[in-house]
Amino acid sequence: MSNILNSIAADRLSKINESPTLALTKLISQLKSQGQKIIDFGVGEPSFETPDHVNKAAIDAIHQGKTKYTPVDGTASLKKAIVHKFKEDNNLDYETTQITVGCGAKQIIFNAMMGTLNPGDEVIIPAPYWVSYPDMVQVAEGTPVIIECGQSSNFKMTAEQLEAAITPKTKWVFLNSPSNPTGMIYEKSELDAIAKVLMKHEQIWLMSDDIYEHLVYDNKKFYTMLNIEPKLRKRTFIVNGVSKSHSMTGWRIGFGAGPEELIKNIAKIQSHSTSNPCSISQYAAEEALKHDMIFFNKWKSEYIKRRNLAFEILSQSEYLDIIKPNGAFYIFVNCTKAMNKKTKDGDLIKNDQDLCKYLLHNAKVGVVPGSAFGLPNYFRMSYVSNEETVKNGCCQIINALNELSK
Ligand code: PLP
Repeated sequence: MSNILNSIAADRLSKINESPTLALTKLISQLKSQGQKIIDFGVGEPSFETPDHVNKAAIDAIHQGKTKYTPVDGTASLKKAIVHKFKEDNNLDYETTQITVGCGAKQIIFNAMMGTLNPGDEVIIPAPYWVSYPDMVQVAEGTPVIIECGQSSNFKMTAEQLEAAITPKTKWVFLNSPSNPTGMIYEKSELDAIAKVLMKHEQIWLMSDDIYEHLVYDNKKFYTMLNIEPKLRKRTFIVNGVSKSHSMTGWRIGFGAGPEELIKNIAKIQSHSTSNPCSISQYAAEEALKHDMIFFNKWKSEYIKRRNLAFEILSQSEYLDIIKPNGAFYIFVNCTKAMNKKTKDGDLIKNDQDLCKYLLHNAKVGVVPGSAFGLPNYFRMSYVSNEETVKNGCCQIINALNELSK
């Protein structure tokens, strides 16, 4: 029980943390405001501008007075555009009643947890994971069950690991491919094996977070689970959005597709929190989803160049060990060999957090410790900025690491 004389905080807050990636962003902007030149490899948003035709749709919406409340979980026309997207990109047929729209994919996942979990329900989350998953589960009074997926399995959950973690209390399993923070993509055969496990356990729902679906390189192919096993449809919830695909992180539009009962529950939660997502953003997202993504080819080739550059430079360090990722815009770097080394000031690098602090203050580069994603002794670097910044930042990391004791 909280002590009401001392604290206004709810008990549930004791179980969750501030988002470590947002905390890093805050610290970097503080250092920048003190005049320090910091390269921010912590951010998880594309550097490109939102496409012009999307911006124009928003401006038109304002001029046309489309600035009022909309239905809580999205306008009918946006839902139609989302149905179109699922058909075009994923070969999946949905009705508009099976679609929900929220303020970013984040709100969609949060609402899904709030609308489905009872105390003690277990949610299987492969680690490394996107930072918010376990905290969202905790806020909704569920129990996160973390499966550690190490470098030997390319940071992916195997069917055997999943099977071993399932209990009668398991309600959801989370999958995120391409992954934040690792950039890894589940192969068809790997999804197939996971699908077979899920088919055996009828009480379990699948949360398929497909937000990075377009960020796939090196002739890899993106599959969402329902392409592999359509029979899972009555207990699969697909989450996606325009944040990463159209560089619209600030517009806050995400969406989900799944069985109607779940969609209604999510809308119920949303109706008592934000109500509809911003009407203007909805019209912009509709425009984004109705059109092809020709602009994206250029973005993709830029991401590939930046990834290659970061991979080549960072691989030169004796302290770092990296698997080249095929998707998203992150590299997840094994920095185990830098542990227990001393800085030139004599400080011991005890863990990944110490190393990230050291890199922030000495290399002037912000990267996020792997422990924030549930896998210590790594750091995540995001290569969204531009080639020059990626090159400079990675060289600064190498130089700072070279100054550690041997
Ligand atoms: N899921 C993953 C894996 C993410 O990395 C992010 C954002 O970083 C989100 C969901 C949330 O996206 P949005 O900005 O649309 O809320």
